[in-house]
Amino acid sequence: MRALLFFVFIILIFVAIRFTLKRINQISAEADSEERESAPVSDDVETMVACEVCQVNLPKSEALVIKLSENAEPHFACSEAHLKTLSNKLN
Ligand SMILES: [Zn+2]
Repeated sequence: MRALLFFVFIILIFVAIRFTLKRINQISAEADSEERESAPVSDDVETMVACEVCQVNLPKSEALVIKLSENAEPHFACSEAHLKTLSNKLN
C-alpha cells in the first residue's frame, strides 16, 4: 500500500513538472510571437524629411516633392505654399 502511494506521489510530481514546463514554453512562445508582431512596426517607421522652407519635419509620404530633373536630388516641402516658395527659389 505504501509503495502504491509513493508511486502515485511520483506520478503527481511528474505531471506537475510537465504542466509547469508546458506553461513556461507557452509563455515564451507567446513572448516570441509578440516580438514578431511588434518587429514589423519598427520597420514601418517612416523616413522623416524637413521642409526646405520652414524646416518642419514630416513623413516622406506626406511631403510634397520637387525634382528639377530625373537624376537631381529631391527637394521637400510641407505644403503647397512652401512648394511654390521652394520652386521659385530653385528656378
Ligand atoms: Zn514648410
